[in-house]
Order: sequence, then C-alpha cells, then structure tokens
Amino acid sequence: MGLWNSPAQLFKLLGHPARLAILNILREGEQCVCHLEAVLGYRQAYISQHLMGLREAGLVQDRREGPNVFYRVAEPAIFRVIDAANPVGEPAAVPTARPAECPCPKCQPVAEPMPA
Ligand SMILES: [Zn+2]
Repeated sequence: MGLWNSPAQLFKLLGHPARLAILNILREGEQCVCHLEAVLGYRQAYISQHLMGLREAGLVQDRREGPNVFYRVAEPAIFRVIDAANPVGEPAAVPTARPAECPCPKCQPVAEPMPA
C-alpha cells in the first residue's frame, strides 16, 4: 500500500474536495496537470500543491513527457475507500468532458493534414 502512516492520515488527505476531485479525474487513467487545471478551473499552483500532498503519501505518481507532467493513481484501492464514502445511491462524480481549452495531448488530437 501507500506511504501514509495511518488511516487518520489517509482520511485527512481524502478529506479535501479538491483532492477528491483530482483523484476522481484520475480514475480513467493518467492526465496532465494542464488537464486537471482545465477541468477543475483551479490555478496550477493550487493543483500542484494538492498533487504534492497526494504524491508524498504515495497515492499518485508523476511522469514527465516533454513539456507535460502526467499524474496517475498509484493505489487504485483508494477508490474503494472513496466509493464507500459516497452517499448511497449517488454515483461517483467522474468528469468526462474534454475541455476545449485544455492544451494536453489527450484533448488536442494531432491535427489531420490539410487536403491539398
Ligand atoms: Zn486535457
């Protein structure tokens, strides 16, 4: 499991709406920081601060690719904890929209060559 020391530390980490929102976006796989920024509408510094806390606890891992830094969930078991905490009958909120303003490679597919 992760690097957190105790259930209390884990619940403290999960006890913040921004960190829960970040983890829910990462359910579907890794995303770049710019994507989290575009989906959540928070400043990058604010998101980075929360990602740092999640990374130090071993909940997420980062990977740099060119100019982008991607984050993924290192402990998928965490979603069992999150799902168990959702009110009965409420599906987990998983944002699926691809924001048009997001510059990440997943949201901006490589443009087709212009026909001659
Ligand atoms: Zn994106």
